[in-house]
Amino acid sequence: MILDMFSLSGKTAIVTGSDTGLGQGISKAFVEAGAKVLGVSRSASTATQEMLGEENFSYITADLSTIDPVDTIIGTALEKFGRLDILVNNAGIIKRQDSIEFSVENWDLVLNVNLRTLFFLSQAAAKQFVKQNSGGKIISVASMLSYQGGIRVPSYTASKSAVKGLTMTLANEWAKYGINVNAIAPGYMATNNTQALREDADRSAAILERIPAGRWGTPDDLMGAAVFLASSASDYVNGFTLAVDGGWLAR
Ligand code: NAD
Repeated sequence: MILDMFSLSGKTAIVTGSDTGLGQGISKAFVEAGAKVLGVSRSASTATQEMLGEENFSYITADLSTIDPVDTIIGTALEKFGRLDILVNNAGIIKRQDSIEFSVENWDLVLNVNLRTLFFLSQAAAKQFVKQNSGGKIISVASMLSYQGGIRVPSYTASKSAVKGLTMTLANEWAKYGINVNAIAPGYMATNNTQALREDADRSAAILERIPAGRWGTPDDLMGAAVFLASSASDYVNGFTLAVDGGWLAR
């Protein structure tokens, strides 16, 4: 039956950036759909665990600005669950500074978290899926700036545009293993990531005016797309970046 295709019952997932914001919403969606989730964040995902229950959601802390934690993350998921079905690359940061002044630190940090670690974690998850001979799902969180240039965010735009391209490359190479690699491009969502924008009255008004849905998105708005791309309902969806943006890109 069609609704059974959306079930994540018996599935196990790693969600990075699970302590707050969109990663917390995706973890909630997966648990409600029947999965067990291992969260990975810079700080402890205690609030997420309180919301979802220890039996459904466990977490580790890791600094994803280097690839050092990659083996530990996959190893912990296997220790806890015995197998891995889904990886969500959600952790990400943004640094705002005029491009003419943009620092090497702000370039490297954003590219390391948003792209370098995303690639090597995806590679490690894919190796595990191949070893299990099970197929799997990899979902990365892209951005409107996978499609547009933005202002004062050169490293973020570079990273998120690359995530969209990389999603296609990995889908091309790994579809033969039954691995679906896709991305979600959230629009303007009310999380820490956009706090500075929302506090800037002029920028906030200009953004809201352009969103056909007439409001900022919330973590709950991503839940349907995340479950779709993690479930067998999307088994023939490969290499696509799905916008969940209240119509922003349609303008
Ligand atoms: P957020 O700032 O609330 O969350 C960012 C998450 O990334 C946190 O869980 C944090 O722990 C994790 N993280 C950051 N640096 C890390 C590091 N070095 N090591 C480990 N974890 C690290 O913002 P959010 O909006 O929930 O962002 C989630 C994702 O969505 C990001 O990739 C962001 O770029 C993307 N995104 C957000 C929006 C939006 O409007 N909020 C729009 C498009 C894309």
